Amino acid sequence: MELIFATNNRHKLDEVQQILGTGFRLLTPADCGITEEIPEEEPTLEGNALQKARYIHQRTGKSCFADDTGLEVEALGGQPGVRSARYAGEPQDSEKNMALLLANLVGHPNRRAQFRTVIALILNGEEYLFEGIVRGTIRQQASGIGGFGYDPVFEPEGYNVTFAEMDPATKNAISHRGRATAQMVEFLNETATVSASDCS
Ligand code: IMP
Repeated sequence: MELIFATNNRHKLDEVQQILGTGFRLLTPADCGITEEIPEEEPTLEGNALQKARYIHQRTGKSCFADDTGLEVEALGGQPGVRSARYAGEPQDSEKNMALLLANLVGHPNRRAQFRTVIALILNGEEYLFEGIVRGTIRQQASGIGGFGYDPVFEPEGYNVTFAEMDPATKNAISHRGRATAQMVEFLNETATVSASDCS
């Protein structure tokens, strides 16, 4: 079963492919001749995920999905949220984003946060949304070298290591993206077969 994943982030593609398993083959927009940046201009995760999926669907007519993730920090009223990638401005820089986050949390005793992923799936022209959340806390300092983004400062609930200190399989099993993807996979396994999305 083939699906276009509306991302050009190889790291995410590998992570989601690992969760999907061998029953699904992910194609990138580039595999389908889409090389321009996919727009994500909406003020919510749901809006962005839908915008990206609709963009790919309009250009290919194929079944596809897109995700959008934000780190929502309680003491900051849910920020950086939909702005997580560019929290410290352009160009995107994870080190600067984490430094700004830690600076903005100085003096806040409440370090609770969650990663939230929304996936928009367009299957045979119908739209579906899935959500995955992992709760945790923001560390005082970065720790670990694995993963990406805010992983070195995020400690998931029930663990005493950061995402950046976990092996990828463990992170996938409990992560926001893992949970949202698992829901989509469950839905796909229960629903009709996806029409072939061969872009070649
Ligand atoms: P995206 O919507 O998946 O591109 O995520 C937006 C931003 O959220 C990324 O640029 C990262 O800064 C952050 N982010 C998303 N997923 C993760 C994760 O699994 N670990 C750490 N940071 C993440």
